[in-house]
Amino acid sequence: MNKPKMASEKGNSRVQILLTQLEKMTGDSMVRDPEMARQITSKLLHLIQTQGKRSRKINTTRDIQTILNILCILSELLTLGKGRRVGVFVSKGGTAVLLRILINANKEFHPNEELMLHLHSLLAKVGPKDRKLGVKARLTGALHVTINLIKKNLQNVKLVLPCLQVLRVYSANLVNAIALGKSGAIDMMFKIVAPYSKKNATNAFSCACNSLYLLILHPETNARRTVEGGYVPTLLALYLDWHRNDTWHRHTVIRKGLLGCLRNVTNIKLGRRAFTKADGMRILYNSSTECLSVRTLDPLVNASSLIMRKCFPKNRLPLPTIKSAFHYQLEHVLASGPVAQLYSQPPGVDDVVDESDDNEDTEADTENDTENEEDEKDCRSLNDDIEKDINKLNPQKIPSRPYEELKVYEKFFMELSQDFQGFNFGSSTTSSSAQSAQPIVVPTAQVPSPNHVTARISALKATQSPLLLEGIAIRCLAGGGSDCGSEGAEDEVGEGAVLEVPDTAQLLPLHDLDLYVEMVKGTKSVPSYTEVAYPDYFGHVAPTYREPLLERLYGVQRSKIFQDIERLIHPNDIMDKVFSFSSDTSFLVDSILNRSLRFNSQFESGNLRKAIQIRKYEYDLILNSDINSNHHHQWFYFEVSGMRVGTTYRFNIINCEKSNSQFNYGMQPLMYSVQEAISGRPCWVRTGTDICYYKNHFARSSIATGGQKGKSYYTMSFSTAFSHKDDVCYFSYHYPYTYSSLKMHLSKLEALRAPEIYLREDVLCETLGGNSCPLLTVTAMPESNSSDHICQFRNRPLIFLSARVHPGETNASWVMKGTLEFLMGPSLLAATLRESYIFKIVPMLNPDGVINGNHRCSLSGEDLNRQWQNPNPELHPTIYHTKSLLQYLAHTQRAPLVFCDYHGHSRKKNVFMYGCSLKETIWQSNISTASNDIEEDLAYRALPKILSQIAPAFSMASCSFVVERSKESTARVVVWREIGVQRSYTMESTVCGCDQGKYKGFQIGTRELEEMGAQFCVALLRLKRMTGIHSHQHLLDLESDLIGTQPKVVSCPTTYVMDEDEPSFLEAVDYSAESNDEDTEVDLGAAAAAASATTDTGEVPELLSDSENNRDAWKSEPVTSSQ
Ligand SMILES: [Zn+2]
Repeated sequence: MNKPKMASEKGNSRVQILLTQLEKMTGDSMVRDPEMARQITSKLLHLIQTQGKRSRKINTTRDIQTILNILCILSELLTLGKGRRVGVFVSKGGTAVLLRILINANKEFHPNEELMLHLHSLLAKVGPKDRKLGVKARLTGALHVTINLIKKNLQNVKLVLPCLQVLRVYSANLVNAIALGKSGAIDMMFKIVAPYSKKNATNAFSCACNSLYLLILHPETNARRTVEGGYVPTLLALYLDWHRNDTWHRHTVIRKGLLGCLRNVTNIKLGRRAFTKADGMRILYNSSTECLSVRTLDPLVNASSLIMRKCFPKNRLPLPTIKSAFHYQLEHVLASGPVAQLYSQPPGVDDVVDESDDNEDTEADTENDTENEEDEKDCRSLNDDIEKDINKLNPQKIPSRPYEELKVYEKFFMELSQDFQGFNFGSSTTSSSAQSAQPIVVPTAQVPSPNHVTARISALKATQSPLLLEGIAIRCLAGGGSDCGSEGAEDEVGEGAVLEVPDTAQLLPLHDLDLYVEMVKGTKSVPSYTEVAYPDYFGHVAPTYREPLLERLYGVQRSKIFQDIERLIHPNDIMDKVFSFSSDTSFLVDSILNRSLRFNSQFESGNLRKAIQIRKYEYDLILNSDINSNHHHQWFYFEVSGMRVGTTYRFNIINCEKSNSQFNYGMQPLMYSVQEAISGRPCWVRTGTDICYYKNHFARSSIATGGQKGKSYYTMSFSTAFSHKDDVCYFSYHYPYTYSSLKMHLSKLEALRAPEIYLREDVLCETLGGNSCPLLTVTAMPESNSSDHICQFRNRPLIFLSARVHPGETNASWVMKGTLEFLMGPSLLAATLRESYIFKIVPMLNPDGVINGNHRCSLSGEDLNRQWQNPNPELHPTIYHTKSLLQYLAHTQRAPLVFCDYHGHSRKKNVFMYGCSLKETIWQSNISTASNDIEEDLAYRALPKILSQIAPAFSMASCSFVVERSKESTARVVVWREIGVQRSYTMESTVCGCDQGKYKGFQIGTRELEEMGAQFCVALLRLKRMTGIHSHQHLLDLESDLIGTQPKVVSCPTTYVMDEDEPSFLEAVDYSAESNDEDTEVDLGAAAAAASATTDTGEVPELLSDSENNRDAWKSEPVTSSQ
């Protein structure tokens, strides 16, 4: 027993020596000689260690004094040296020693307060550097020492603060947090966390908030304990108290801390209930509204908004069923799949919400977490989705159907057998020159001069058209007669009156009003529409100016969300007046009496299902789902009338499904004003302010999400004012292009055809809805019926084009229109193109979808671009027969040189292509096969490369040539693999705008889209030169003139981009929660950490941070591809 004492005494004397040495070294010299200081500390440390081990029965007073001295020195040394010295201290086992001293000291009946204070201060300082401190503290029992110390000294702020700081480090460990919860730490915290007073606005308070935050962050038991202890009202009361008293905003850290606690506690269902019961929504709403004016309080507002959105009770979409409002009875239903499910759904089943759709805990950790899970899934599927099966990757012609079966398709290729005997070639030249007097304008995106656009106004008897008469009559009745006239022209608009229509014949050579009405009459829709929308009737003349991408204002989404929350807080202010579009017209009378807006979408491609007036000038709109489906809402097209001039209306489309949208990135919806049209400006214009797209509080049933529970819909919100009284306006997702428009355009093209052009329009097949699917053949007439000329004619390579398999992608039709107009045009380039190729074009693969306002599917309720592998002749006739055409060609050794399917892309900018490359797929998928061994012709790259050089909207960087598993039944992949077309593409055009090239910063318009279609043709000519089929050197100059730009060098390698959505690296903004307070977070984190310990550790989780959950929320959507 003597020996240890001796040793410790000896040790103590050495400590004395060291201390003396240290005393000699003034602070000044210590800085100068850090090496010396380190030596001394190291020795000191060793001494403490040995002492700790041996001194069990040392003279308390004296040793405590010594220990205190040492602790003081250590403290000073560690403060001076910052992180590095703390690191040394931890690595030498310093924290273990401190804990041991703590345990020993605690064994005394009255532990020395000063010693405890120093020990905890030091632990708080070095703790964050020691990853294992939490475990050590638990194993040694120090955890309980600290918590008991706090319990006994609640009033002793000086002592409690360092203890809390240490506790905070401890509770970052999950097991500790559970243990602390069990030993009453939460109750204890609520004794410290008190209402505002100048006195308690201290570090201790803020620190307690932080510890509490961590305690209830993870183990659900602690959150539960907090709720069951009745502390949710306490937290709310505390927050409100601090909000009211902290008038100078000096303690936002504390306020944020309290919100953080609320946020964690509302992660569980019990907490959300308690929050709602304690009037949390109103408290946070009111306090946030008061904070709105102070920009520095944004983190508080955002944190509050996050909590409120989480606790917002999920509402039911105000519909009896989410099944499409219109039903088309299928004769054949496949045995399985979503359509079969839809058909087998027993009547009476509620498909709008799930039974217990009360914000399940499983999904509601925070609302962004749910999205993160999806994102992870995406990342996984992104890698998993790459085709790795070499056999599937090798483009092999799969033994196609027997020739006997395909022979019937011969009739679609008459040009390959026709001999033109008896055809008068002589007359063709004369009639062609006569034709050139009225040329088809080659579409370019060059903005025409304004005087070119002044349209003549001519009178046209609207009475000729019974289809339109009805609409006009109703509208004038609604306008109230005498109210008419602000714009002059509409005075004459009335029943049976003459309607002034814009004469756009020169600007729109393919448009003809009467012809359009004729076409509509032959179009068969499921709801049997009888009305014609004015924009489709008058036509659209692209504006003379380019429309810039809309700059998003700060806080737009937040203010919209706050308005949504107001619905809950002030339910009496909500009108909730429903306008359904059933045949009854009572709502019409009602809306006239109440001067509310009138909605209509009973025309081709229209798809509004329901409108609900929420406030005087605010409407919730519900889109119809695709026929035979219970979802796919994105495309919209509807009519509005009965508006007041100069009033700003807010429209919310509340059943959107995708988790992000280009509406968050500068895209505006389109509006068409009839008053503007009859005043000579018939055009769709980008309209709307305060546009945003965010997750809302309407629950989405698992029936519609493919089994996923707890999902919400999204709101697309925009505001707009109307400038004409008694106007009829239309809103649309993108420039509409109806099936009737296509038929009209084709008919006009045929009528305007020059004799040297070979144009044939066949009906490929009938659709399910009884509409015909046109197939066009375009080439040049043979020069004569000499066998040489006929031979050249027949041997021209084929180009196969298709578009609009997805009805919501109207941009694809505008690109196709550009292609067709160019092809049929009078230019020398077009003539050469026709002489070089035979074009086979299916301009609309999904007429039924287009007619009925679907977004993605056909009447079979299926995505037709997922049926190419095995199309069903009954359910997918257009795909079945288009594929057969290609199979026929493959069989006769005439497989096309290029296949391209035009699409629209909803979440990316620019125009780009997807192709198929074996090598690039293997390279991306890291299959062991060395991709170097594989021989692959790089021909597939030529066309997109040319396009990137000549088409301003086209971006090579967005192209991808990877074959994905999820795309194995798309046109592109099947035509590549089964038909053996190496140049098989999907061309995607943005619905939004461009972020590169000449159109950078602008939204895309029909002029640019049509130009894209024309440039595609030009690119085919250049491709022809490259493939060396013929040489037309003289065309080079012409081509350059048309292009207007020197080819730029594009050498960027293509990356593997998700073919869907906003790529995650492009626009890294989280608009789903809009917590733009990252900067503030950093400050806050630093402040919180500075209150306790060193900050450079990174091992203590960043406290009170919302950003951790939001950081990844903008990542791209789950794979629901657009192609
Ligand atoms: Zn598509």
